[in-house]
Amino acid sequence: MNSVILLLGYMGISIIGIASYFLGVFHHFGLISLLNQLVNTYTPSQWQVFRLPRWVRNFLALCYHAVVLGCHMIAIHDVLPYIEQDKTSSSINMAALMYHMWLIHTLFYLMCVLTDPGIITPSNCKSLCRIYKYDGVLYAPSAVCSTCNNAKPPRSKHCSVCNKCVHRFDHHCMWINCCIGAFNYRHFIGILVTGIIMCCNGLLITLRFFNTIYQTRKLYAYKYIDSYGQKQPLSGIVLAQYQFYHFPRPFLLACTLLLLAGLLIVFTAYHLLLISKNKTTNEVYKLEKAEVSQRLKSEGYYNRGILSNILEVVAPPSSAV
Ligand SMILES: [Zn+2]
Ligand SMILES: [Zn+2]
Repeated sequence: MNSVILLLGYMGISIIGIASYFLGVFHHFGLISLLNQLVNTYTPSQWQVFRLPRWVRNFLALCYHAVVLGCHMIAIHDVLPYIEQDKTSSSINMAALMYHMWLIHTLFYLMCVLTDPGIITPSNCKSLCRIYKYDGVLYAPSAVCSTCNNAKPPRSKHCSVCNKCVHRFDHHCMWINCCIGAFNYRHFIGILVTGIIMCCNGLLITLRFFNTIYQTRKLYAYKYIDSYGQKQPLSGIVLAQYQFYHFPRPFLLACTLLLLAGLLIVFTAYHLLLISKNKTTNEVYKLEKAEVSQRLKSEGYYNRGILSNILEVVAPPSSAV
């Protein structure tokens, strides 16, 4: 009965998690602007900007913390005691890596949310305007933000969630509830990379746990009786059912880590590709909507070669060189 309740709870959280993930993705790819148009068409002018309610944004950020904390709690409470029994150097290293990565991941998270992403103010606006050149397609020298009343530096964008203009704006991350701009993009990449290491290491630890169970309980010697009354060796599916029935939390942990690792690898690969071409998520989205001739004109405008592009993310220029 406990397993059924746990499974239902897990499915509920997964559905909410996946739905909110896609909500986050669609935010970057136009759902919000579509809703903007609908809202602007049918509502009075004082409601011009559509924003997700604060509680939804806080809920998504809470989901992120709940997943990180929940996975570690299950690993520490249910999985590690079995792993540490075998006392081999690899299992001890895996457990040590788990704690170290958790710490480094948390430090990247704190640096990301505590660092100013590049908020444009009247005092820094002029110097930020000189860092990049205007490409004349996405960014025009005469542009002024109608909300902040500041000139728009090249590669900046007004974030409708934070209600501020951000220098080299990439996107507003719903999961950590902050803007990703010029000065915290490197920390954001750190969050993603350490997240992948955490998921893969956690997955290996969990698989080792199931292998320990398999060996110590001598599951390879078990047989089950099929519908014809014949004894059969345990198949992979029957073994998985056994593990889920006896160890539901580690089993669900493995499923979660597999899902998260897949999503994070795809998302990180996308961002590494953007870094190599010196593009932002915002620019990709904007160029997709531009005409073909304009797109060709702007394509590769800020690309300075792969090494310089990487250096620009690691050590973003804060004034014109
Ligand atoms: Zn603005
Ligand atoms: Zn923002």
